[in-house]
Amino acid sequence: MPERSYFDWNATAPLRLEARRAFEEALSLPGNPSSVHAEGRAARRVIESARQEVAALLGAKASDVFFTSSGTEANMLALSPAWEIGADKGPRDRLLMSAVEHISVRSGGRFPKEKITDIPVDAAGRVDLAALAEAVAKSERSLVSLMLANNETGVIQPIVEAAAIVHAAGGLFHVDAVQAAGRIPCEMEALGADLVTLSAHKIGGLKGVGALIRADDDIHLADPLIRGGGQERGLRAGTENVLGIAAFGAAAAAARQLGQAEAARMLALRNRLETGLRAIAPATVIFGAAAERLPNTTLFALEGMKAETAVIAFDLEGIAVSSGAACSSGKVQPSHVLAAMGVSPGLLRGAVRVSLGWETTETEVEALLSAWRKLATALSKGQSGIAA
Ligand code: PLP
Repeated sequence: MPERSYFDWNATAPLRLEARRAFEEALSLPGNPSSVHAEGRAARRVIESARQEVAALLGAKASDVFFTSSGTEANMLALSPAWEIGADKGPRDRLLMSAVEHISVRSGGRFPKEKITDIPVDAAGRVDLAALAEAVAKSERSLVSLMLANNETGVIQPIVEAAAIVHAAGGLFHVDAVQAAGRIPCEMEALGADLVTLSAHKIGGLKGVGALIRADDDIHLADPLIRGGGQERGLRAGTENVLGIAAFGAAAAAARQLGQAEAARMLALRNRLETGLRAIAPATVIFGAAAERLPNTTLFALEGMKAETAVIAFDLEGIAVSSGAACSSGKVQPSHVLAAMGVSPGLLRGAVRVSLGWETTETEVEALLSAWRKLATALSKGQSGIAA
């Protein structure tokens, strides 16, 4: 087995050392955080300190952070008609979302299909703000969900402008910041978001933990998904995942301290990567390149390349890349993101995603480029790039 280079950080990131330590420390805590005895209180302290750290990553208050089992669950929780804002108890009557949202948002949460409106994106994958303004003006009770950064292309949405449009029309604004957190600034107030989704495993925590964060305590959900013991101030029942939350807090603290420097390093590597990809095969198309993007993501294709075979060819060279979004079946589905950007079917089937992280090295980028050289040469000869 060749030495492996991991380039699938948007699917999941390795556990940060700080998160591993917090996890290991929490392993020795026997108590239930809801118990009043010393053991229970010790577990509670771990959760509350993690809540502070996750809040700090977004410049939010700890009391506005609600832990969930995943980013998916936080999105599901957010996409409800039953948000109340202060004295306003009326339901949200429709859901607006961009055509390039993560599948957990595309599922529509608890809105029926006929109450959901798609907002188109341009060829670079940016949401069409004029279409958003037009759609949101049709009701004062919309819920709008947009991602801060796209998981496939890394394209960053004009969230500040979108927030102004949504709020001017009386709407409530949810932002899925799962891919953006730790990579670009995500201050809730600066973004203008009312609700934000995070996922622990994208920032170096454990898989299976997420959070929904609200802008202030005026915002209240009348229909939690999971009811029972009243944990997470009634918003998410079930004994808390103390280990996962402890690691999430440590990962959030590390991301806050190191994120900016890591992003600058990743951007330099990503630029080297993209220059190299194009130097080797000048016809390489990099999706979303005309837009502002995350510093760590490149989604690219070459006419005639099939994503499935390209991913296998890279894998055989010791390089882990992906064919776009990771999906539970492991099957490659045509990307709804690229389809919404109007990408031709020929290129759409060939899109390969390379996503970098804080451990990525220059040597690994060079290894990826030499694998790309082999693959691109094989493709130019009409071969698949996988040795028989
Ligand atoms: N939102 C975005 C943009 C994502 O990329 C992902 C995961 O890939 C999720 C939500 C879901 O997060 P989780 O894996 O924690 O369910």
